[in-house]
Amino acid sequence: MPASEDNSKIKTLPIIPIRDGVVFPNTEIVLTFGRPRSLQAIEASSSTDRTVVLVMQKTPHMHEPNPQDLYTVGTIARIERLLKTDGEVNALVKGQTRVEILSYESTDPYFIAKVIEAPDDDVRNDEITALVNHITAELKRAVNLGKSVDFLSFMNIMSGLSPSEFSNHVSSVLDIKPTEKQLLLETRNVKDRLSRISEYLSHETKILEIERKIASKTQEKFDKSVKEAVLRERLKTIEKELGEEGESKEVRELLDKIKKAKMPMDVEEKAKKELKKLAQMSSYNPEASYIRTYLDWLTELPWSVASSNQVDIGQAAKILDADHYGLKKVKKRILEYLAVMKLKKEVGTAENSKEAKNQPAENTSEKQTAEKSVSESAKRKGATPTILCFVGPPGVGKTSLGRSIARSLGRKFVKISLGGIRDEAEIRGHRRTYVGSMPGRIIQGVKTAGTKNPIFMLDEIDKVGTDFRGDPSAALLEALDPEQNHAFSDHYLEVPFDLSDVMFITTCNVLDTIPPALKDRLEIIHFPGYTEDEKFRIAKGFLVGKQLEVHGLNPDKIKISDNSLHFIIRRYTREAGVRNLEREIATILRKIAREVVEGKVKTKAVKVADLHKYLGPAKFTSYLAEKQDEVGMSTGLAWTEAGGDILFIEVALMKGKGNLLLTGHLGEVMQESCKAAMSYVRAKAKDLGLNEKFYQNLDIHVHVPEGAVPKDGPSAGVAISTALVSALLDLPVKKDVAMTGEITLRGRVLEIGGVKEKVIAAHRAGIKTVIMPKNNKQDLEDIPKYVLDDLKFVFVDSLDQALKVAIIKPLKPVVDEEIHPKSDLQPLLARLPS
Ligand code: ADP
Repeated sequence: MPASEDNSKIKTLPIIPIRDGVVFPNTEIVLTFGRPRSLQAIEASSSTDRTVVLVMQKTPHMHEPNPQDLYTVGTIARIERLLKTDGEVNALVKGQTRVEILSYESTDPYFIAKVIEAPDDDVRNDEITALVNHITAELKRAVNLGKSVDFLSFMNIMSGLSPSEFSNHVSSVLDIKPTEKQLLLETRNVKDRLSRISEYLSHETKILEIERKIASKTQEKFDKSVKEAVLRERLKTIEKELGEEGESKEVRELLDKIKKAKMPMDVEEKAKKELKKLAQMSSYNPEASYIRTYLDWLTELPWSVASSNQVDIGQAAKILDADHYGLKKVKKRILEYLAVMKLKKEVGTAENSKEAKNQPAENTSEKQTAEKSVSESAKRKGATPTILCFVGPPGVGKTSLGRSIARSLGRKFVKISLGGIRDEAEIRGHRRTYVGSMPGRIIQGVKTAGTKNPIFMLDEIDKVGTDFRGDPSAALLEALDPEQNHAFSDHYLEVPFDLSDVMFITTCNVLDTIPPALKDRLEIIHFPGYTEDEKFRIAKGFLVGKQLEVHGLNPDKIKISDNSLHFIIRRYTREAGVRNLEREIATILRKIAREVVEGKVKTKAVKVADLHKYLGPAKFTSYLAEKQDEVGMSTGLAWTEAGGDILFIEVALMKGKGNLLLTGHLGEVMQESCKAAMSYVRAKAKDLGLNEKFYQNLDIHVHVPEGAVPKDGPSAGVAISTALVSALLDLPVKKDVAMTGEITLRGRVLEIGGVKEKVIAAHRAGIKTVIMPKNNKQDLEDIPKYVLDDLKFVFVDSLDQALKVAIIKPLKPVVDEEIHPKSDLQPLLARLPS
């Protein structure tokens, strides 16, 4: 900018700070001044041409800002009118030109600064015109949506101003932050300023639109509830006019429902009391709807609806067999349980009638007296009634067996999942004082069943947690305990419900996490998981037929060959149960169903060669087929929540400094097993023919592949030691020998758990020999005979015995030179890659 032009535009003027606002050129506004410096500046200006410069402060609450606390761009304004009120001055100011502050001349008694005018260029072009038109339209829309703009300003804006004036006026009515206003003031280029204004304005209209939507929704809701209350009130008046005063139709209907529900006497009284409260209540009272919901719950519970309770053991046995293959022991156990239940019922009824005769029931609750006598006589006999608990991996038929029991007894079946429940209220309900309160899951389940004696399955009882919201297992215990559950109290219901006719069955994957008090009550029935042959029979006899029916396919026309089923079991699933197997069969049939509908096939026999087309590539390689007898790799047996499995333990040696490296997501106990194995080998180094200091020049890496599967527990001790010795002696381990057992530092082998699952897993994987602790011998009892026939068992109580069997060259007593290279470490190190 040329210096001459500069000079004409430079002025020295009083500066007045504004806390949080911007005065735009061409606009008028009323401001209130109170700070002494501002008042003196106004005073001084009145003796000249009444112009001052208004500049915004960077922080609004600062009372005495310094020059550096002010923005450097402000507006020259003329003070048009003044109105003084006690200590403050209201001034009508009119913005004139934008200025930039060049330097402050003095700061006392008020700010005086040298400023230079920086007006807009009056440019017009198509783009600017379009922006002005767009903003005008948007502003009109905003005003229609409820934006408040004072009438005069609005008229001004609409009256065809120059783009620069237009932008200043619109800026002054925008609902934006002071800092955003300052930014607009500082934007020199008119086009840029208009674009920015347009953005701010669209944002504002969007918010106005949302606000309007919310307002109309709220109004709608409000209207609905008012309308309902008014109608109810009107109904009452009409009924009064018709002489039906006292009992509205609703109350009469509810009373009818209460009578039909055949509740115990005290419950009925409670219900009637609530009904009376409701009848006296104005319809406008929000509590009325809570009472209505409560009464609905009370009247819809099956207080005295029951399925017939005939236990026919022969019939039950037939139905259990028809629904499930195998599970002989489980079925036998269930039939025994049913028989005991039947006998107990008969004894109970006999005792009951005897005692009832002795003390005839008064007009009070006859039923209650009877209940008391049953449970007391049960107590006297010392009978501890139990609840069945099915333990086993997923997909072994726990739920479907529960269903089958219900079918065989002609009772209803309900199932609730307890997985992840941490709140007692989930079991026992919330008190009615809570908004949105409901009965707990037990009462909900009973309502769903619609009878008071359903088979009630509580799934995943091992996954119930405890925290600050109370202990759900305590509430569960009360529900399950036959001595207490004839009067189960739900917080929401407030009246006791009789659960003594419900047959509870619980299920879980593991037993360890069930609280002991609860476990005590459970009659544990193990589902060990299936062998390949059993799975095949289940698939052929049950799953295929079931899925054909589900998919609407004709069993005479669509078939799956035996070989295919075996192939699916071996190569597409790896599980203890049959859930995935069923899923894979369903996948095949779904695809065939589509082909049938499309007219591509009419009959089909699925062969092994077709499986790739329907199921994609095989998901699992056969466990052992591709493996070889290897140095430093042993086969262990693991037990997980999903059943048994085999796992491979690998040990690698590297030149190093005696570090032990453990990988493959090993749990703490398993890591300790590795260390114990290492200590054992070090202690036995001499006997094994190793240099006593062998470990000093070596790093030993123990790895258990399939890192995503967490592994823990002490039972891999034998397998780890075997792999370690094999690596150190450079002698391979037999691939088809699987081993399990905990070890001590002295090489003793201790007993372990989960034998059944592990043996079945070993059988499934094609293992030939299983090495197992001597003390576990008795655990083989429950394992199917044909599994035992296929396997060779070696029971050991020391590691030496295990090594003899597992490591390829027979490991004879310690001094045999042939297998124990009498080396120091040199030959071993020489074979390692450097
Ligand atoms: P869980 O409750 O143990 O997880 P499910 O009861 O859901 O397992 O069983 C999964 C599927 O396998 C069901 O369709 C069930 O009918 C079927 N199934 C499991 N075991 C057998 C069996 N022994 N005979 C027939 N079908 C079975």
